Amino acid sequence: MINTILLGPPGAGKGSVAKLIADHYKIPHISTGDMFREAIAQGTAVGKLAATFINAGKLVPDDVTIALVKERIQAPDCKKGFMFDGFPRTLPQAEALQTLLVSIKRPINTVMEFDCDRKELIRRITGRRVCKVCGTPYHVDTMKPKVEGVCDRDGGPLIQRKDDNLEALTVRLKAYEEQTLPLIGFYKAKGLLTRFDGAKQTKDLFQDVKKFLDRLK
Ligand code: ADP
Repeated sequence: MINTILLGPPGAGKGSVAKLIADHYKIPHISTGDMFREAIAQGTAVGKLAATFINAGKLVPDDVTIALVKERIQAPDCKKGFMFDGFPRTLPQAEALQTLLVSIKRPINTVMEFDCDRKELIRRITGRRVCKVCGTPYHVDTMKPKVEGVCDRDGGPLIQRKDDNLEALTVRLKAYEEQTLPLIGFYKAKGLLTRFDGAKQTKDLFQDVKKFLDRLK
């Protein structure tokens, strides 16, 4: 059983590797960032509130984020395992998740940390384009699609996220350092943390992750 959390700064490869993990191990990929972007696209009340924070690179308030996750984790597909990407991002979120998972008797059994140097994070995020339909990431220089502006997977249009500019990224990196980095100590103390080199290319990174998860299963 894989009940996991992916931790790491924006651009360290969490989202890309998460897609491969979800396909290979058939577990749901729970990305709070994707859930918020979906809520924004649908124009819901949560989406409207979240947009103001997200576009500025700031974190969405804990109570809103926790409520979203609380509902998602109860869905039947999470019974066979789950993977969080981009959640928890603050200590109160980690503590709320802990309580929630203990109450439903499905504790986290591993936390994977992805790290990468800041210069490479900036290069990746500022050149990133994503499929509007499936979210698959590309890069304007180093991960081009076969046809310009079109997703290889489903033909969807490639767009630039509103928060993928240097200004919002600087705020996101600061939020990561101040609010999310303490989680590394939190999970290390529980003996759950394993580190991976996020500077590697996605396919190589996935090989490292697969080796690790196959032993856990
Ligand atoms: P990235 O990891 O590339 O910054 P995400 O897609 O995970 O991107 O998140 C995008 C934005 O959504 C964040 O900058 C933040 O505003 C919001 N968000 C996502 N997850 C959380 C969370 N757990 N807590 C608060 N805000 C969140």
